[in-house]
Amino acid sequence: MEKNENIKKSEGENMDLQKRIEQFRELEYAFNKDFYQELKEEHSPHTLFIGCSDSRVKAETLFQAEAGEIFQVRNIANIVPRKEEPDDHTSVVSAIECAVITLKVKNIVVCGHSNCGGCAAIRKLEEYRKELPYTGEWISQSISISDYIDDNYPDMKEEDKIIMLEKLNTVQQLDNLMTYGFVRKRFESVKLNLHAYYYDIGTGSISVYDYDSVFSDMIAEITANRKLLVEEQERELERQKELEQEQADEREKENEEKQTDEKNQKIEKKQEEEKINKEEEKINKEEEKTNKEEEIINKEERKKEEKKKEKKKKSKGEKEKSAEENGKTKE
Ligand SMILES: [Zn+2]
Repeated sequence: MEKNENIKKSEGENMDLQKRIEQFRELEYAFNKDFYQELKEEHSPHTLFIGCSDSRVKAETLFQAEAGEIFQVRNIANIVPRKEEPDDHTSVVSAIECAVITLKVKNIVVCGHSNCGGCAAIRKLEEYRKELPYTGEWISQSISISDYIDDNYPDMKEEDKIIMLEKLNTVQQLDNLMTYGFVRKRFESVKLNLHAYYYDIGTGSISVYDYDSVFSDMIAEITANRKLLVEEQERELERQKELEQEQADEREKENEEKQTDEKNQKIEKKQEEEKINKEEEKINKEEEKTNKEEEIINKEERKKEEKKKEKKKKSKGEKEKSAEENGKTKE
């Protein structure tokens, strides 16, 4: 089945998406209507293409393929997460799973490319982690390849190191694919081919590497290193969790102690208040007693005074009476 290539590219112009869609409808679709009518009936791609998100890498052009031929996964630096990676990257793995198990593709092609921004970023991972944390996390899956190159080719120029990284990173993904049982099973039963392609954008050349390629020994060493790194990261995570648990326990203990202290302080305060109240009550009672006693004393004194006065009054009256009687006798 053939189709015409009639889409006009508006090179140099600002992209008008609506215009592009109209062109697709009027030129591409209208001229190939039968092709598209047939296409809707069946989806049976022969190849899974795992490529970088880079817009210069166009799977259909590289393979001279039509719609319906190539199932695709695209991400930064064409990475396939290994099964044992600590984080789940189900988006990538689910596409591979559907391609292999449901669509039963015959080939998986991992396609790396020259001038790859993702691979260059792996060389400056710590910088990228700050600026683009998600990207940093994602591309860190290939850091062992970069470290391997530094360790084994210390005198290599940086630009050559990046090219080597782009190639090794591509082949590495074949090994990563093999960590999934459903890939390995079909590969070992010769129902699935695994290839790594390296596309040089400027020259248009494409290098092809198989799973057992010239890079196999390097990949084995890189994989072993990566495994050690992942294990170390897992141990670090475990240590972190334990530390957090210890800190949480410590905080809980401190809280309990604080609550106990507060409770004890409240009890002590209450006891102190009760003691003060009792003492005040005692003092009040004593004061009351003293007041009553004083009152009694005062009453008695008043009585005495009154008696005195009465006595005085009586004695005065008697004196007057006696004087009167004396006066009468003189008369
Ligand atoms: Zn790229």
